[in-house]
Amino acid sequence: MSANYRVRKPYNPDSKEPFPVSRSKIDLFLECQRCFYLDRQLLVGRPRSFPFNLNNAVDELLKKEFDIHREKETPHPLMSSYGIQAVPFKHEKMEEWRDALRRGIQYHDKGTNFLVRGGIDDVWQSPDGNLIIVDYKATSKKGKVSLDAPWQISYKRQIEVYQWLFRKNGFPVSDTGYFVYANGRSDEKAFDAKLEFDIDVIPYTGNDEWVDGILPKIKKCLLSEDIPPVGDGCEYCPYREAAGKSLLAKRKESQKDSGTQTSFV
Ligand code: SF4
Repeated sequence: MSANYRVRKPYNPDSKEPFPVSRSKIDLFLECQRCFYLDRQLLVGRPRSFPFNLNNAVDELLKKEFDIHREKETPHPLMSSYGIQAVPFKHEKMEEWRDALRRGIQYHDKGTNFLVRGGIDDVWQSPDGNLIIVDYKATSKKGKVSLDAPWQISYKRQIEVYQWLFRKNGFPVSDTGYFVYANGRSDEKAFDAKLEFDIDVIPYTGNDEWVDGILPKIKKCLLSEDIPPVGDGCEYCPYREAAGKSLLAKRKESQKDSGTQTSFV
């Protein structure tokens, strides 16, 4: 049974209804507890970013390609060329697991009463029955794609949360997951209304042990009366504070000079 996750309510520890916590909100908590608290408890979400339509198109086309092989239970040529012994996993819930907005793969953690969920891109299955979590990524950069940038920790955590979710749903899961990484080539002679891609399949050995431990910390944060600290990696709150102080100083200066009320809001 799937709940409606689009209804936004603050956390209520007395509610019997499980509180939805998505994979991306776990990542937000790890990035900045204050932003997580603002979003999930005070219901002030970050402004939406522009939709990544080109990335979404690559995701959709990759899904279609892998689905052809899922149906035939044959490996995709990319899997063969990387020596990966597996086929795309055929399961009646595949579409539900891929529905990132409303369903996804879910697990009810009774200790916290959280309903943890996430929408996957793909799952493969090795001959020994283990599931392999796969995520599609698209970018355009010079040189080879890799997982070496510090911000890509978020990609790694994504695979690990999905591994955890599948294990909690009773599936045997390989520690190795894969990123199918499409890199748009900008070194072609002309565009000709066509974007060529190089595709790499990058393995990642996940460790999902941290997920069980993070859920009580998230609960503690939601229950806290104190505003959580700002994370290290974002400059918006320091910017907002500096901007607020400058605007306030400017307002006072203007009022002193002219005796008028000036709004900077
Ligand atoms: S520092 Fe950034 S991530 Fe943290 S609360 Fe402020 S805007 Fe959100």
